Amino acid sequence: MHKKMLFRQGLPAGCVRGFLLLLCISSAFFCATCGADEPPQRVLFGGDAEYPPLEWMEKNQAKGFNVELARTVARLGGSKAEHHLGNWPDVIHALEEGRLDVVPMFYSAERAKQFIFTHAYYYPSHSIYALPGAVRVSTVDDLNDHTVAVEQESFAHQQLRGLAIKPQLVLTPNTLTAIEALLNGKAEYAILTSLAADSLLRKNDWKLERMGAPFWSRGYAFAVNKNKPELAEWLQDALSETIASGRYQQLYSEWKPALEPAAADKTLVNILWISLALVIVILLLGASWYWSLKRTVALRTQELRDALTQREMAEQELRHVAHFDSQTGLAKLQYFIEQVDDYFHSHQQPVKQEKEILILKLVDLDVIVRTFGFSRAEMVVSAFAVHLVKLNDSLAAYLGRGVFAIFTNKCNALTLFDRLGAAMTNSDPGLNSQFVGGSAYWPEHGRSAGKLMRHAETAMAMSIARRRRWMAYESAMEPSRLDLDIISIFIDGNVQGIYPVFQPQLDLRTGKITSAEVLVRWQHPRLGFIPPNVFIPLLENSGLIEQITAQMIDEAVRVAVLLRKRNLPCAISVNISAYDLIETNLAEVIGQALVRYKGVASDIKLELTETSVASDPQRVKQVLLELSELGVYASVDDFGTGYSSLSYLTMFPIRELKIDRTFVSDMIGNPRNHSIVRSTILMARELGLTTVAEGVEDDQTLQILKKDGCDLAQGYVIAKPMAEAEFIEFMRAHAAQLFDISQFMKR
Ligand code: C2E
Ligand code: CA
Ligand code: CA
Repeated sequence: MHKKMLFRQGLPAGCVRGFLLLLCISSAFFCATCGADEPPQRVLFGGDAEYPPLEWMEKNQAKGFNVELARTVARLGGSKAEHHLGNWPDVIHALEEGRLDVVPMFYSAERAKQFIFTHAYYYPSHSIYALPGAVRVSTVDDLNDHTVAVEQESFAHQQLRGLAIKPQLVLTPNTLTAIEALLNGKAEYAILTSLAADSLLRKNDWKLERMGAPFWSRGYAFAVNKNKPELAEWLQDALSETIASGRYQQLYSEWKPALEPAAADKTLVNILWISLALVIVILLLGASWYWSLKRTVALRTQELRDALTQREMAEQELRHVAHFDSQTGLAKLQYFIEQVDDYFHSHQQPVKQEKEILILKLVDLDVIVRTFGFSRAEMVVSAFAVHLVKLNDSLAAYLGRGVFAIFTNKCNALTLFDRLGAAMTNSDPGLNSQFVGGSAYWPEHGRSAGKLMRHAETAMAMSIARRRRWMAYESAMEPSRLDLDIISIFIDGNVQGIYPVFQPQLDLRTGKITSAEVLVRWQHPRLGFIPPNVFIPLLENSGLIEQITAQMIDEAVRVAVLLRKRNLPCAISVNISAYDLIETNLAEVIGQALVRYKGVASDIKLELTETSVASDPQRVKQVLLELSELGVYASVDDFGTGYSSLSYLTMFPIRELKIDRTFVSDMIGNPRNHSIVRSTILMARELGLTTVAEGVEDDQTLQILKKDGCDLAQGYVIAKPMAEAEFIEFMRAHAAQLFDISQFMKR
């Protein structure tokens, strides 16, 4: 039964009792194993008659926590308790003499020599009491020479006997009489069990003061007569079972209001409990705060991570916008240069693979914009970008206004051009466009992207100037010493050695020479003869061409007037550059020359290239209208090399097309060129335009041109450009002569 009940109880309240319980459980376990004899029929318990709340006599009845505990223990042990309470010294003697079996008391080593003790079940303490206003003492040591009341044979009495101090003891039979000794002045101080003294003071409403903190806290246990070890053993078992069964706890709870320490102690415990509760609440709050913080941190971290991702994406987008052209998706110039330079830096030595920067320009993009609008031009640019990347899987850039660049292994640019042209035509013929290019090679032409770009650009400009599809850079393309000399001579305005030559044009319908072209020649005193192909582009590009134009207009009018005077009427055409059309007052210049020589306006023709017509269409149209009102008409020079369609050109007041000599000179051996010449003649006729074939070098070509319906021919087969005198002689010699082709050929 003991074993079964051993672990069934709940925990007792209070720290002291917790410790006690542990002791009892361990002893219960121990004693249960040792066994006990038959329980006694009754056990005589003794105690103090004035020691509440532990024990006291009331209406001849023994009462108190000790009394009820003794009854419970005896009952659980299978016995019966009987109580005899009286004055403390008598009780002690009765126990010694065996008239009493058991008395609960403070345990002490000295007492243990006289009695057998069970384990302690309670831990009361002692305090010093005095009347209010007494000299304050804080420890027992302060009591030397004072009168001190103590219960005779009590624990305090025993303790004092063992101390060095010698107070004057006032011995009383119980706690109540000790208090009375204080109250009636027989003693200054009293050392009493706090629990009992406080209880008596409350009960009688006496006012005494406690001095200092409680002390001598000792285990309170059952003391058994020394001659009754079996009884002691039984009692220990029964006490252990009382505790283990939870009965002790139950009893303690019932007596708690009386047993709990004094108010101050209670407050202390309450404070402890409240503190503990607070600590728990704080811990719980802390934990919940921690989790909420953790959650907040996790959320915030996620938010930050999202924000970072978004920022990275935005940055990436910004980088992309900064580096790539939105229309074509190709790199922008700056990024292209950076990438190319990066490549050069990491592949400096040895160079295993020659590289090439190729710049391509859609040369008719302006015309497309003007003719079809911006959206069509954008479509052309986009389509070109797509094909370029598809055909050459390398770094490509779009530099704006129809200019592209690629960075590639050195390649055959013309093959790429053919394939690009074919791809553009095949994908959407409506988006077809003319393009030219220029290349510069790494490391041959430079070791930096910037330098190579400049050289490729020069090569491309040269392609345009020389009317080629593509050219690779050469150092000769750079402005030479001669170029600089030429420009400075024209800037100074001291130009010597300029003179005109005239090249006649044969009218294939009549066989007469009825027109000619004036061409400039320059024999400089220091620089020698300089061909027009060298200095004309330079002057055009530097805005200095107007001097030449004005001079040639002057010569043309003068010579035409001269010829007319000799009855050899001849229209003379003058080469006009884009700059003349746009920047100078051409009508005024021509008008003044006509006035000066009393010339006939229809004797002057103007040769304009497609490119100059397209450079500022509005202005050009206006100038040409002014001139045609004067009677001066215009001819499109080098037709076929530019990028304009014939229909576009008819928007301008022009009268004549000069088919470029690149188509004419080899049209016999080149059927494609012949068919271009033929269809141009046909189209021009449809549009009411006169056709001139230039660069005719042989009779056969002349005959074919006549057959094809070409109106006029100009070329070495008729005459080379001649100085004024020679030209006038040429005109005179053939004047009025029916200049049919057969005669001409016989000459
Ligand atoms: P362009 O206007 O196409 O002039 C015709 C050029 O072809 C002339 O070269 C002429 O000598 C050459 N030519 C004529 N017939 C033949 C032929 O049968 N075979 C070959 N291979 N060539 C022939 P030139 O005089 O050297 O002039 C070259 C260019 O210089 C001209 O080409 C023109 O663009 C420019 N130029 C000449 N004089 C002037 C001028 O007074 N003003 C302007 N703005 N440019 C001029
Ligand atoms: Ca010309
Ligand atoms: Ca020409």
